[in-house]
Amino acid sequence: MSYSNVREALRAVDPDLKIIPGGVRHSKKKLTMNDWEAAGGLFCSRCGQETVRNFDGVCLTCYREDVARREQKQADRAEKQYYRKKLSEGTISLAQMREGRL
Ligand SMILES: [Zn+2]
Repeated sequence: MSYSNVREALRAVDPDLKIIPGGVRHSKKKLTMNDWEAAGGLFCSRCGQETVRNFDGVCLTCYREDVARREQKQADRAEKQYYRKKLSEGTISLAQMREGRL
């Protein structure tokens, strides 16, 4: 004997069993593209692009740009520090430094 659903199967065992409907409720209304647009999302505070995720108020693209910029700044600073140290030690001349840089 096969049952088409759980309710039927349970009724077969215990006809007096009270089954309370619950669980997943399916919306009768289908989600359309317009609904999706209306629902909206997060907007990047910098470029204004809509984004599903927000990092420090900006979208992933801008966030990555920030990280890249920050890393570049750090690299520049480290390089400057390196040359400043070498210059103060006298192990490198300004001419050599320019050569290395450009
Ligand atoms: Zn952005």
